[in-house]
Amino acid sequence: MGMRLHEYQAKGVFADAGIPTPASQLASDVDGVVSAADEIGYPVAVKAQVHVGGRGKAGGIELVADADEAREAADSILGMDLKGYHVEQVLVEEAVDFTNELYVGITMDRSEGKPVAMVSTKGGVDIEGVAEEDPDAIAREHVDPSFGMHPYQARKAVYDAGVDESVARDVSSILKTLYDLWESRDGSDVEINPLMVTEDDEVVAADAVMNVDEDALFRQPELAEMEDEAAGGDELEQKADEYDFDYVRLSGNVGIIGNGAGLVMTTLDLVDHYGGEPANFLDVGGGAKAQRIANALDMVFSDDNVDSVVFNIFGGITRGDEVARGINEALEQFDEIPKPVVVRLAGTNWEEGMEILNEDLVTVEQTLEDAVQRSVEYADEVNEQ
Ligand code: GDP
Ligand code: MN
Repeated sequence: MGMRLHEYQAKGVFADAGIPTPASQLASDVDGVVSAADEIGYPVAVKAQVHVGGRGKAGGIELVADADEAREAADSILGMDLKGYHVEQVLVEEAVDFTNELYVGITMDRSEGKPVAMVSTKGGVDIEGVAEEDPDAIAREHVDPSFGMHPYQARKAVYDAGVDESVARDVSSILKTLYDLWESRDGSDVEINPLMVTEDDEVVAADAVMNVDEDALFRQPELAEMEDEAAGGDELEQKADEYDFDYVRLSGNVGIIGNGAGLVMTTLDLVDHYGGEPANFLDVGGGAKAQRIANALDMVFSDDNVDSVVFNIFGGITRGDEVARGINEALEQFDEIPKPVVVRLAGTNWEEGMEILNEDLVTVEQTLEDAVQRSVEYADEVNEQ
């Protein structure tokens, strides 16, 4: 798995390495946005800081020309739901007056087993789309990680992409810096899209993506700290950290709780199969005691997007009866169950578990298919009302 930095964090890392970035300030309330914009000088871009690409198209980026517009943009972007993410912070950034938008990036080419540097003059847009429709528009240069990127390799990629001569030198040097960061900071993907070119041939990183290999975070304490800081941006992800769950927030409305990554994935696929949309991935792990089950329910119940919940637990170390008691205990705390819960138990002591489950509080199903179908129906009913 990769850990994704926010744009403002990635820009900080890039700027420290010498890559030019526009002047910017982070803000989390409307007044903060306006005072940052006043200080930077208009026009500025107000940019949602959430872990998704394509924010521009989704309404998460606005260019503003004065304080009134800044206030309006801040009002609409802060607190908005962007592809399932709640926007709590925006980057207020000096707007760049550009003539061209380039793409530069480093990623791992698994088919070659080598990192690859990519350059394109078709920046600014979704680069995966470019790769599909017009693969020749992206120049690629593989790098032998034991030698690192030679400066001539950077120049070659930039030349092959057809980057204008007047900025080729700067773009090459940025590409080389990006590679060095990829290597030294354990990056999985690092990219600048767009790398903007101005009228006077300045080159500026207008966006920044940095994904870091999660397994290497122990030797990247600075970046690990950024993850903690970023987790603070999303209440649910912060909660997941506290509870020590593997949790990923998705954009649907069927909450999913299971034990074991494979089982949770299967449940996700089935929800999709039956026409529902998963709200999350939540793996409670092995040995799930009552308290952990209660914590898991607390997680999904506190997600406003969730309309129904499906439990899919396979008893192994975690015994079915224990899980059932956990579910009962957790639900008995509520005067009214906030969202319908469907449970399917299998494996060790599942029959005992089924008997223990309080059917005043939950719907019990014998098979995974039935449980998933039922939870999708419940979610649909909520939306029909
Ligand atoms: P993404 O959509 O999440 O990848 O966010 P980007 O930071 O790449 O911004 C998307 C698009 O917004 C860019 O390609 C630009 O066209 C536009 N944009 C972002 N920042 C600026 C800016 O400072 N000036 C101008 N003119 N456009 C900007
Ligand atoms: Mn971008």
